[in-house]
Amino acid sequence: MYRRDLKLPFDGMHEECGVFGIYSNETRDVAHTAYYGLYALQHRGQESCGIAVAYANQVRYFKGMGLVPEVFDKEHLASLPEGDIAIGHVRYSTTGASSLLNAQPIVFAGKCGKTALAHNGNLTNTKQLREELIRDNAVFQTSIDSEVMALLINKYSDGDILQGVLRACKLFKGSFALVVMTSDKLIAVRDPFGIRPLVLGKNLDEYIVASETCAIDAVGGNVVRDIRPGEVVVIDSEGEHSYFLEREKCSASCIFEYVYFARPDSVIDGCSVYAARKEAGRILAKYYPIHADIVSGVPDSAVVAARGYSEVSGIPYVEALAKNRYVGRTFIQPDQSMRENSVSVKMNALRANIRGKRLIIIDDSIVRGTTSRKIVRMLREGGAKEVHMMICSPVVKHPCYLGIDMQSYAQLIGANRSVDEICKYIGADSLTYLTVDQLKETCKSAKLDFCTGCFDANYPYALDDYQADKHKFE
Ligand code: SF4
Repeated sequence: MYRRDLKLPFDGMHEECGVFGIYSNETRDVAHTAYYGLYALQHRGQESCGIAVAYANQVRYFKGMGLVPEVFDKEHLASLPEGDIAIGHVRYSTTGASSLLNAQPIVFAGKCGKTALAHNGNLTNTKQLREELIRDNAVFQTSIDSEVMALLINKYSDGDILQGVLRACKLFKGSFALVVMTSDKLIAVRDPFGIRPLVLGKNLDEYIVASETCAIDAVGGNVVRDIRPGEVVVIDSEGEHSYFLEREKCSASCIFEYVYFARPDSVIDGCSVYAARKEAGRILAKYYPIHADIVSGVPDSAVVAARGYSEVSGIPYVEALAKNRYVGRTFIQPDQSMRENSVSVKMNALRANIRGKRLIIIDDSIVRGTTSRKIVRMLREGGAKEVHMMICSPVVKHPCYLGIDMQSYAQLIGANRSVDEICKYIGADSLTYLTVDQLKETCKSAKLDFCTGCFDANYPYALDDYQADKHKFE
């Protein structure tokens, strides 16, 4: 599996998923629009993808393992009919195995006829919900929480999909940005804390929903607004209507979207991802000045932070690492040994730029530490005199249970070693992290509060399914 963005800073954390939906007032080739939307969301998941189209009271879908252009060659895209509504999904498995059976959208024939659902996020009470459904004689085809959501929505729908969504979503704990489609409705839901992003767009008389604004831009739409925490947006022949789940007192959008997951050209809850990353570099320069000759960033997400650092410090920005554009990310492959071996295939030191130099290298995060260690070694072998590593986020000390594949303390170097020990492990001359408050400062223009659980265990939800695992490591 490949990805064009070759950044490999997050040695252990994967993206989650991306969702897309389109409602057109005219029957047309909505599958193509979904295809381009998913293409723009490819960075959020590279394992599998799928598109479902509603037409003439039917739903037809196609899904497969691999990248969007691999799964949807001309023939498979053409096999999807013209229709009024389409939803799509790109997946990285955070629950359930990586297999075609677990690919989305989930399509089922239920009380509201053919229905399709695509989900980004992770429920924290899936186990309990699944056991209740099994006691009710439900049978499962997959191991993913999204199927639990689909069954509960169907259970409570009684022929009215909106009622099904509203009643089922009250039972869900955790993160969910959801698109649901029947033959005549497109419904988009953002969980009550707004953990995962979800945005509404328009293009003439078409409505679009997507995980990120970059997907709305990609299909020529205009971004209308972010879907609010707890909001259920229903789009049908009468236009767009909003309903609300019970609202939480505060919001908790995932702050890692700004650090790493989202595309830099996306705007989440009013805050530009690009600007937040640049600000991270500026704050590092302001609070943690270092005597160095050059500053550089690990491609791609930390490059803009390095430019921010350069602007404030006056230290010239110079490229220190060249990336190979044609291989995948370090941690696309689930096997850790394969990840570690692939680092030097993916990037190489630009020796002429760094020889004899005191270098600041900025990265977005450290999870396991293995990639950082290899990068520092690569820079030293390339001739750098000093290598100072600076990180655009705080120490990752806790797992994420809300849709990021980083679910155990054992895999986090920050949970098991001090900053000095991590610095020694990666072989840097110094190692600096942002604090949680400084990270929040980078995206202060966002309209929501943040989840910072992986830094300070301040999760918006009780961990239900994960309590045993948490205690095991305490
Ligand atoms: S725990 Fe971290 S990665 Fe997970 S949702 Fe919260 S901020 Fe995002």
